[in-house]
Amino acid sequence: PSKDHEVARRRVENTATEYWYYVRHQLLNLKNEASGNTQLVSHIDKMLGNCQGYQRTLNSDFLKLKSVDGMDEWRKKESQELTNLVQRRFHYLQNPKDCSKAKKIVCNLSKGCGYGCQLHHVVYCMMVSYANSRTLILESKGWRYAAAGWESVFQPISNTCTTKTGTSSVFWKDPKIIEDVQVIEMPIIDSLHPRPDYLPLSFPKDLSDRLLRLHGDPTVWWIGQFIKYLTRPQDHLKQELERAKQKLGFTGPIVGVHIRRTDKLAAEASFHSVAEYMTYVEDYFSALELRNPGVQRRVFLASDDPTALPEAKKNYPDYTFISDPSATLSAGLNRRYSDESLRGVILDIHFLSLCDHLVCTFSSQVCRVAYEIMQTMHGDASHNFKSLDDIYYFGGQNGHSVEAVEKHVKQNEKEIDLEPGDLVGIAGNHWDGYSKGMNHRTGKTGLFPSYKTREKYTIVDLPTYPEVSE
Ligand code: GDP
Repeated sequence: PSKDHEVARRRVENTATEYWYYVRHQLLNLKNEASGNTQLVSHIDKMLGNCQGYQRTLNSDFLKLKSVDGMDEWRKKESQELTNLVQRRFHYLQNPKDCSKAKKIVCNLSKGCGYGCQLHHVVYCMMVSYANSRTLILESKGWRYAAAGWESVFQPISNTCTTKTGTSSVFWKDPKIIEDVQVIEMPIIDSLHPRPDYLPLSFPKDLSDRLLRLHGDPTVWWIGQFIKYLTRPQDHLKQELERAKQKLGFTGPIVGVHIRRTDKLAAEASFHSVAEYMTYVEDYFSALELRNPGVQRRVFLASDDPTALPEAKKNYPDYTFISDPSATLSAGLNRRYSDESLRGVILDIHFLSLCDHLVCTFSSQVCRVAYEIMQTMHGDASHNFKSLDDIYYFGGQNGHSVEAVEKHVKQNEKEIDLEPGDLVGIAGNHWDGYSKGMNHRTGKTGLFPSYKTREKYTIVDLPTYPEVSE
């Protein structure tokens, strides 16, 4: 099918999902209001169950529609071809013939945060490298997760150019001024000034038609490509992941659940019970059961909280839980910054990314990294997740907007008006049919029905690396 067909198909799926969120939320509200009226409550319960039945069948049919006429195979092949092309470009960029003359970007891994956050820091640096045709030099000695540095687990990001020496060197400033400087040192993304348009959430123009046809969220696909290149495992890590796969008995179909607790709950995220995550796991398997009766319900569970797994096992005896308790233990704050903890988080992210579907909180970089890697392995896994809190984002990203496609007249004080064409800076989805954002035309912030908008993509001109063949 054409790009337009695929865009329309995904749009129908999105609208149906938002419709279900809306109906479920409204019915649950009604049920609350009706409490005490047992007849009405049982009527609403019946409606909820029936609507869920519709939703299950819709989901199952959407999956069928996505795959008919060999489309899954086509998607896998197209994603693989695009992946090969992009990875070859990265390889070319990272291996200049003469390092002493190469233009460079220098990035220091020691951002004071967790593994996912540090990995995203390197992704952003490499995006700047790619956009400026400069080789990325990664400084990683003394890494808080492994003092020996990046190469203790991952392959070097260059085979020919690893030193930051050069004839001239500056800290990042206006690209026009520093064009001729050989070495540019990068700050963290939050302090970057001026801010180029190719930061997330953007994707390159020369690949945009193919990506928009292939994928429901090309920005995530693009970020995933950087992670794929950066985290090519050393042989010993590759073998360890393979051994872990055997030992855990990891096999599909399987849903990945990431439960982020401990230090994250202090200020950055809310507590979610195991039951909340499992609601969405149950949704996934009950839809799958329509096509695959009697399917074994498997969950890969990753967490930094050791109480999550026993609770899940006790309350969901029909499920098989696969998990690595030693990874969870080493994720605790007292042991977090160690080689053992690094292996644990790499392993957990690896298996989460191999799952067919993810249920997690996108406020956590661990789950966002898993979701990003997932995109490099399936043709289009942009729909294969449920986040209990945030929509997808990249920390420090440029403004993320949606565009109104229908007029909306606000129905109460919490809502805002929309006119077709309005750009709305999006803050989040409330998963009840409404999103929150700021209308750039009116300056007003509030709720609006998610289905009356669509994604406003940032498609940017970047080098096309003609030296690298298609
Ligand atoms: P965030 O804080 O959740 O956004 O993610 P970061 O990756 O930036 O920092 C959290 C760190 O906590 C991770 O890098 C791990 O070291 C640890 N961690 C959190 N969740 C897990 C998990 O499910 N498994 C393992 N092994 N480690 C985790």
